[in-house]
Amino acid sequence: MTHTPDLGDINLPIYPRSVIDAGGVTLFLAQTAAGKRLGALAGDPAALAAFEGELYSRGEKTLLVGPLTAENARALRDAAPALKPRPFGLQATAGCGDRLGLATPGHVRAARVAPGFGMLYAQQSVRELMRTNRTAAAVLDDATWGAFQEGWLEGVGADADHLKTPEDIEQYAGPGFSFYTVDPGAHVDGAADADDEATLRTKFAALPWPELATTARDLSAAYLGKRIEVEDRAFSVDEPTLLRAAAKYGRAVAHVAAMYRALCARLPEGAWELEVSVDETDTPTTHAEHLFIARELRRLGVKWVSLAPRYVGRFEKGVDYIGDLDHFAADFAGHAAIARALGPYKLSLHSGSDKFSVYAIAAQATRGLVHLKTAGTSYLEALRVLAATDASFFREILQFAIDRYETDKASYHVSATLDKAPRPETLADSDLPGLLEQFDAREVLHVTFGSVLTSERGYKARLLAGLAANEERYYDALERHFIRHLQPLSQKG
Ligand SMILES: [Zn+2]
Repeated sequence: MTHTPDLGDINLPIYPRSVIDAGGVTLFLAQTAAGKRLGALAGDPAALAAFEGELYSRGEKTLLVGPLTAENARALRDAAPALKPRPFGLQATAGCGDRLGLATPGHVRAARVAPGFGMLYAQQSVRELMRTNRTAAAVLDDATWGAFQEGWLEGVGADADHLKTPEDIEQYAGPGFSFYTVDPGAHVDGAADADDEATLRTKFAALPWPELATTARDLSAAYLGKRIEVEDRAFSVDEPTLLRAAAKYGRAVAHVAAMYRALCARLPEGAWELEVSVDETDTPTTHAEHLFIARELRRLGVKWVSLAPRYVGRFEKGVDYIGDLDHFAADFAGHAAIARALGPYKLSLHSGSDKFSVYAIAAQATRGLVHLKTAGTSYLEALRVLAATDASFFREILQFAIDRYETDKASYHVSATLDKAPRPETLADSDLPGLLEQFDAREVLHVTFGSVLTSERGYKARLLAGLAANEERYYDALERHFIRHLQPLSQKG
């Protein structure tokens, strides 16, 4: 940190927390009539060679004022390595997906108030990139600029979320993402939950044994008749349980191992970490199944820092946990014990935003070995600001979302119904922000983000302009909202 640089007669309002010294160059973020600009001030103009922009000579010094391009974001990360994504290992972490690319300063402010988390400001799944017409590189750059604006030098991570095929890896590997979430959901056989024993035997025999590097006989011998101790619990896996776990997750285990090898081949050792997620499946992951997944991944040499089982109850998008909390607590404690005994690794909460009733339970059960994943909730906070600052535009988006909901909800686990979502025409302007507290309206607005942000009606540009004009208000809303997530999750009990 340094003092605000003296720019002589150049009037350039500076984001005060952005100012950093990096090897003889003073870097800062400025606001101009044309938008945000990178400023770099150096005694030796050669020190500015990596940046692009206009050069101004100021006495002994040279000032560069440059656009927020990919080139400059890369040069900034090289000059200030704290802004380069890195792994966090077993430290508690939080992911802040940001579909608009403007939310990071608000996330940073919350992380300052509720410290202790490794922050993954950049996080976007392959599906979200497609729905928002963004690239992984742009997602990282937006998060870089946001962290820089707020002077966040505590380290950052970047989550390549829900990767399904080896081809998904490349666009995240190039820009330097550090956290790879492998989702083998397409290889989970949810029907195994209800299959009879004959069907399970057939499925078991047909598993991809060479890829699993074992045989049906050896796999059976590793479980049947054995007592598997996990802290103060003991599991004995009987034959139907093993057949069901293997039929349901065997192919997923093989797929994760293949993805892991592809990641190892592509990325420098030590620069990345793996999460395994089976959260987007229809049926919960039992303790025996979690044990099976973790033991088999270990046997295959896979190393991971966090795992997202599908928990009991429902983790719907942008709303609190739905289900019995005592049941959740008991079930979650078992998963946490398995994660400690077979790792240790963190338990990951996907669709983790707004689950206010489970954070304290999760923090205590995992003793802080936890990863929180949020995404759409920052978009909802943007809409909250819009509802308060541009009622007529908010009404337009709400009506558009209502029209799109039945189509867009197909790939999500949501239970909102349109008949319960209030209609915009029945509400006064002053009631509009309150819709962001209403269950059905939240889900309707949440799952339609892709349609809104890619609509030919130009909603995205208008939304970005509205937020830019009210940026402090947006950061305040995000800060308040994320403190409510991070604070309870940091109480290890
Ligand atoms: Zn997920």
